[in-house]
Amino acid sequence: MKANEIMAALEAKHPGEDLFLQAAREVLETVEEEYNKHPEFEKAKIVERMVEPDRIFTFRVTWVDDKGEIQTNLGYRVQFNSAIGPYKGGLRFHKAVNLSMLKFLGFEQTFKNALTTLPMGGGKGGSDFDPVGKSNEEIMRFCQAFMLELWRNIGPDTDVPAGDVGVGGREIGFLYGMYKKLAREYNTGVLTGKGETWGGSILRPEATGFGALYFVNHVLETAGQKLAGKTVALSGFGNVAWGAAIKATELGAKVVAISGPDGVCHIKDGITKEMIDYMLVMRASNRNKVQDMADKFPAAATFTAGKKAWSIKCDIALPCAFQNELNEADAKELVANGTMCCCEVSNMGCTAEAIHYFQHAGILFAPGKAVNAGGVATSGLEMTQNAAHLAWSGEEVDAKLKWIMSSIHEQCVRYGKKADGTIDYVKGANVAGFMKVATAMLEQGTI
Ligand code: GLU
Repeated sequence: MKANEIMAALEAKHPGEDLFLQAAREVLETVEEEYNKHPEFEKAKIVERMVEPDRIFTFRVTWVDDKGEIQTNLGYRVQFNSAIGPYKGGLRFHKAVNLSMLKFLGFEQTFKNALTTLPMGGGKGGSDFDPVGKSNEEIMRFCQAFMLELWRNIGPDTDVPAGDVGVGGREIGFLYGMYKKLAREYNTGVLTGKGETWGGSILRPEATGFGALYFVNHVLETAGQKLAGKTVALSGFGNVAWGAAIKATELGAKVVAISGPDGVCHIKDGITKEMIDYMLVMRASNRNKVQDMADKFPAAATFTAGKKAWSIKCDIALPCAFQNELNEADAKELVANGTMCCCEVSNMGCTAEAIHYFQHAGILFAPGKAVNAGGVATSGLEMTQNAAHLAWSGEEVDAKLKWIMSSIHEQCVRYGKKADGTIDYVKGANVAGFMKVATAMLEQGTI
């Protein structure tokens, strides 16, 4: 295959789907060389099949707001690839959600899930519903209306949604309640990220951030560096940034920045436990303002409007919020300020130009599909517990999460080791995930 030719055909077929095309280009360009060593893949047209989702559901979601007014949003579920297991991936509620965004996320999820070592295919869904400024009751009514449409297309062995941006434990609760009412079955494994008393896994809320820091630790150690004593800038203050802040602090690093759409909080002496706990209050408020942290802890945090986390001097940059949140100009600013490592915790957190800039500057860089895979991996562990009707202890889940992150790191090293001994984590993660899915597709015939 020629990545450029396939990309040209995809661009012609899906004009304007910029996010999906960006994700597809990165994967195709990095797997091209390995793919071409396998003529059986070429013959079975694996790559041409893999870039199209198995199916997409689009639906209207109508609900009533607190003023009694009728609101209509769009809902989606992209069932991307089920070669290695049931579709698995989160739901994103954000005003910018569109099909291109969910196709990019479903495509990424397919390879990420393959890296986890667990049998999960790739899927993603969501809505252009904007949770900012909504009351709890409005969020509940929206979740119920969303599930009213989605429930027939999901199931523990069919498609298992979970959280993503704008969807956390509260939303999963409302979604599950409605699912149960409609299905008339206590199908626990139909969603992950559930509450601990009704089938959720201990550590699932922390898992994305914890797993990311375990991975960062491997990246640093492989390069002969240490996490302890390093300064870390995080973007966002949601579930992912929260877990990352806890684990980074526990491992001896100092989190000096968190950010939001409104600006950045510089936390000179490092984030404290009280501040980390307050991130949960900020998320539950639906205000989406990081300034609230500086208002609550004025002596410790300084807020600057309109600035990103990347404007704060740090050793390690961890994008934890949204795709393309770190661009080339940000990468240049970070490198000029002495940053030595950037690991994407958000999905496709860096633009292609930013990644190339980091790689050429010799900065340690690892992509989201490897770094943040601990979240969906722990969702996979939740599915296992649900299928076995039991609950593991926190120690058990954490030990499995650590093992999975170390195995993902090994797979990246296996496929990404360069002649000079350094690791191309982008190539390593893409090739490792791709080979697993491609082999399964080949063995299952032309379907
Ligand atoms: N939304 C998360 C991700 O991007 C988690 C998905 C899941 O747990 O299914 O991987």
